[in-house]
Amino acid sequence: MEDTLIHKGLREQLVTELRTKGISDERVLQAIKTVPRHLFSFDSALEKHAYINKAFPIESGQTISQPYTVALQSQLLDVHENEKILEIGTGSGYQASILYQMGARVYTIERQKQLYTSAKQLLNDLHYQINTFFGDGFAGLPRFAPFDKIIITAAAPYIPVVILEQLKIGGILVAPVNSGENQEMLRIVKLSETDFEQTRHGECKFVPMLDGTSD
Ligand code: SAH
Repeated sequence: MEDTLIHKGLREQLVTELRTKGISDERVLQAIKTVPRHLFSFDSALEKHAYINKAFPIESGQTISQPYTVALQSQLLDVHENEKILEIGTGSGYQASILYQMGARVYTIERQKQLYTSAKQLLNDLHYQINTFFGDGFAGLPRFAPFDKIIITAAAPYIPVVILEQLKIGGILVAPVNSGENQEMLRIVKLSETDFEQTRHGECKFVPMLDGTSD
């Protein structure tokens, strides 16, 4: 659990790279500069890859998204202080930490028990007050709805209607939705209970969003 000047320097370089790739939201870049991504790999052998712009494996056959993807999704969400955000697919907890660092109140769900337990422990050790849940994200989190923003970080076959119902009017949902081999990053603004505005933000590759939970 060590964060050194070298790690900080690597994060500065990563931020410079993300700027050249089109990330311009200063709140996103500031969060990436702050959150120690090397602590989210659960495998110290992978530590040196933590600040390279690529995805890498975590437990249970899952991956931590590449920094550019985390930054893009966070930028598309247009996060503001105190907003209530639901994340589906906690994974390592890194994306949730970026949103938390941006001042959001974060609720995140994971379907794999082991990942849920590891992420919860790490977030606790980092003193990040993030609400973690073990469950199936296809159901959303009705007890805590509605949300200002919703982010899905697994490849969704479609956007579940119950999830859209848990979004406030004026709220934004960002999700990678299946399209052929890969996914397309979609940003959906809820204009009214029945009207949605959708924009497309490029191809991406995520692990699949799966039904149910797993031990
Ligand atoms: N946001 C993560 C990366 C996510 S990888 C990070 O920052 O590290 C996708 C994660 O979504 C995996 O951990 C996978 O187990 C989880 N997942 C897949 N389907 C899900 C579902 N229906 N509900 C909740 N989590 C799900």
